[in-house]
Amino acid sequence: MDKVVKNSNLADSMKFSIWLKEFTGALKGINDGSVPCGECVGCCTSSYFIHIKPTDRESIKHIPRELMFPAPGLPKGHYLLGYDDKGHCPMFKGGRCSIYSYRPETCRQYDCRIYPATGIFPDNEKPEILRKAKGWNFDVSSSEDIEAIEAVRASSQFIEKYHDHFPKEFIPRNSPQQAVLAIRIHSEFIGIDSQEIESNAQEIIKLIVSKYG
Ligand code: SF4
Ligand code: SF4
Repeated sequence: MDKVVKNSNLADSMKFSIWLKEFTGALKGINDGSVPCGECVGCCTSSYFIHIKPTDRESIKHIPRELMFPAPGLPKGHYLLGYDDKGHCPMFKGGRCSIYSYRPETCRQYDCRIYPATGIFPDNEKPEILRKAKGWNFDVSSSEDIEAIEAVRASSQFIEKYHDHFPKEFIPRNSPQQAVLAIRIHSEFIGIDSQEIESNAQEIIKLIVSKYG
């Protein structure tokens, strides 16, 4: 298991199974993300294009129109918010998000713990996020935690190994979206051993495409 996932130092670590439940809840819009970011502002200063969805009505009202441009390949009403020459989001002002209460869903859902959870890490161009991601500890001391992290790791390894067997564009190119996909599909890998995964790979791919496509 990856060295960033530990069961020591439990006082400042989070139970993996609880984190996973909260994160998948945030993805489904059941709850907001709850990352204890502290002083970190890595998300707002790491040259990310922020996806703004038609449902982000309050964000759209609070972001100057000239800062948003139509998101390539997505239907009308989807926008991207770019970044300045320092890689900062234009809504990042005075060291914080100037529209925090109205920030887009993309920002609400972002959680850099997806990287140590899946073992899929961002590239070195995002050093602040990489540093923060490598600093998290998960508590994997219960059987529930072990089952959950094994399923997440099996799903991220499956994506990597069978990348070319999926329809074109099904597997996202960037690491955060790939990690999120691994988490979304992890339940398909609960309780299956690696041999079963190997022998049923094509069926698993078909199931994932039909259920999560
Ligand atoms: S990189 Fe992680 S800790 Fe830092 S702001 Fe983003 S989600 Fe929070
Ligand atoms: S909208 Fe706010 S939270 Fe989102 S990247 Fe920009 S400054 Fe950060």
